[in-house]
Amino acid sequence: MTTTDVAVIGGGVIGLAVARELRLAGVADVLVLEREPAIGQGSSSRANGGVRAQFTTRPNIDFSRYSIEVFERLQQESDGALAFHQVGYLLFTGTEAGKRGLRAACDLQRAMGVDTEWLAPQDVLRLAPFLRPDGLTAGTFHSRDGFLDPGAVLGVFAEQCRRLGVTIRVKAEVGAVERVGGAFLVKTRTDEVSAGHVVNAAGPDASAIAAMLGADLPVEPVRRNLAFVQAPADPLIPMCVDLDTGVLVRREVGGGYVIAYSNPDDPPSRDTTLDPEFLPQVASRIGNRFPFVEALPIDPRQCWAGLYPETPDHHAVIGANESDPRFVHCAGFGGHGVMHSPAAARAVAEIVVEGRCETFDLHALRPSRFAEHDLVTETAVF
Ligand SMILES: Cc1cc2nc3c(=O)[nH]c(=O)nc-3n(C[C@H](O)[C@H](O)[C@H](O)COP(=O)(O)OP(=O)(O)OC[C@H]3O[C@@H](n4cnc5c(N)ncnc54)[C@H](O)[C@@H]3O)c2cc1C
Repeated sequence: MTTTDVAVIGGGVIGLAVARELRLAGVADVLVLEREPAIGQGSSSRANGGVRAQFTTRPNIDFSRYSIEVFERLQQESDGALAFHQVGYLLFTGTEAGKRGLRAACDLQRAMGVDTEWLAPQDVLRLAPFLRPDGLTAGTFHSRDGFLDPGAVLGVFAEQCRRLGVTIRVKAEVGAVERVGGAFLVKTRTDEVSAGHVVNAAGPDASAIAAMLGADLPVEPVRRNLAFVQAPADPLIPMCVDLDTGVLVRREVGGGYVIAYSNPDDPPSRDTTLDPEFLPQVASRIGNRFPFVEALPIDPRQCWAGLYPETPDHHAVIGANESDPRFVHCAGFGGHGVMHSPAAARAVAEIVVEGRCETFDLHALRPSRFAEHDLVTETAVF
């Protein structure tokens, strides 16, 4: 039997960020339990690496603002190990409704201290002269957004965890969590762990962990796909988001383009093979603004898929389970888990150490909001 102050279930980017932050906050014993033979093999290994503050809700903007600062600091301290390229996110639209939505989001971001720029069509084309210009109505740009290497983020968190004395146990699938007195008994196939707190950081499997203590957590896996197309290495471009089709394009550091498109009608699924519908869906949309990519051949062998841990309102779930103040959920990050990992970790560390989070207002992220039918929905979901 192992004893620990906090058992973190899940060794993805969220679990490792949380473990690191718990140690930095003074928790003596932190144990990460990961099912797979290595850390970071779940959603975290499939991400595009996008980091942006251009969201439409307060909690997401707040999380991004905090996390971007942490990534900027870590990038400096690690001599650029995160490969954090702050090329900005450029969002644009060709509709009046899209323009109104962008304006509202831009105003909120600016009111919250994010320096998002409002762009007329000619400004959009100044930043991205390669876009098809027809009918553009507006755009926004935030220069501290960008992309990083998700594997490197995971590596930096893991290395710091080890240096801080966090124990990371792989091949340790949690099969049961039980309450025993004031503590929890966390059972893997080979071990039993007595933990003062349990953090549910199981990504797309977070609902199964919640159910072990009778909690209902609506986090569902949804397959998401990415394509890579070869092209000569050229200077980087902003992460370009065509809001009218939902297609994202960025240039890869070594050349080529990464293309993303998330079909909002995709049902929950655990399938991580490339969706055969994905490439035709991209092909029918990409020409709207990206004629330079339309002409390039897409090789399916250079495309991949993974799971978004999704919630009905596209916000993470962070907070103690209602019936168990020491059972803390930190899951359901959809397509934002890498970029929001520093803020999420800070929030969980404060909940565990102080009993409440002071740095962020977590009301919109509380686990009970689903049962209360009180949801704030993020609409900038790509
Ligand atoms: C195609 C794609 C593109 C994306 N692009 C971006 C992006 O640009 N920017 C961004 O920020 N995010 C992006 N994401 C989302 C991001 O990858 C996720 O939000 C993030 O990785 C979630 O991290 P996690 O640690 O919660 O989940 P995971 O990485 O899945 O980690 C959960 C871990 O829990 C373990 N586990 C599960 N059950 C158990 C158990 N019973 N016992 C022990 N361990 C268990 C799993 O093995 C897994 O390692 C993208 C995702 C995909 C699929």
